[in-house]
Amino acid sequence: MNTPLKVVQCWDDGVATDARLTDILRKHGAKATFNLNAGLHRNTRQFGWVYQGMDVYRLGWDEMNAVYDGFDIANHSLHHPYLEQIPIVDARREIAEGKDRLEQFFKKRVLGFAYPFGTYNNDVMAMVRDTGHVYARTTQAANQVFPPKDPMAFHPSCRFWTTDFEKRYHAAKKNGVFYFWGHSYEMTTDAMWRTFETLIKKISNDPQSEWANVKDLFAHTK
Ligand SMILES: [Zn+2]
Repeated sequence: MNTPLKVVQCWDDGVATDARLTDILRKHGAKATFNLNAGLHRNTRQFGWVYQGMDVYRLGWDEMNAVYDGFDIANHSLHHPYLEQIPIVDARREIAEGKDRLEQFFKKRVLGFAYPFGTYNNDVMAMVRDTGHVYARTTQAANQVFPPKDPMAFHPSCRFWTTDFEKRYHAAKKNGVFYFWGHSYEMTTDAMWRTFETLIKKISNDPQSEWANVKDLFAHTK
């Protein structure tokens, strides 16, 4: 293989365990994008919900710059609604203001979008495109991910917690891009975190692969 496989990853919802995740990614030189809901965070860390018996906390704004330092940020709407089920005027605000607030806070351009719950329709796709996003990620797994037929329906390769993750990773070497996504709160045991770190390290050490940011797959002006 002459052209290395581009490996991109993204993580959703801005949860406290992203701090543990970014520590591991930094250690192994991996790039990643974090899809955030600007309307759901307070100044300090707040309880969010329970996942498999574990309390999930949302990060506070007071720690976001440190946690995500060196990583890319993308928009996941303001409040994580089903965008295709709310009035268009509200959906537009969710999309546009979500992007604006993240750009103001992180002081850099936000060009990516991830649909909350992975759901969308033609109106939602048009609004995401018209508000200046260069791609929008769905939650449907695809074998050939890039280039997508429509960047506003960019299907990833798989979730991180997929039994055939490694098989899909190696199969993607024929296709040029491997794109996985997840939620760091899904890692509820130290064993899962060790599995995660082992896989990240393996990808970082794979001479046939290189990490990339999702948005850099798409032409855009920096
Ligand atoms: Zn989400």
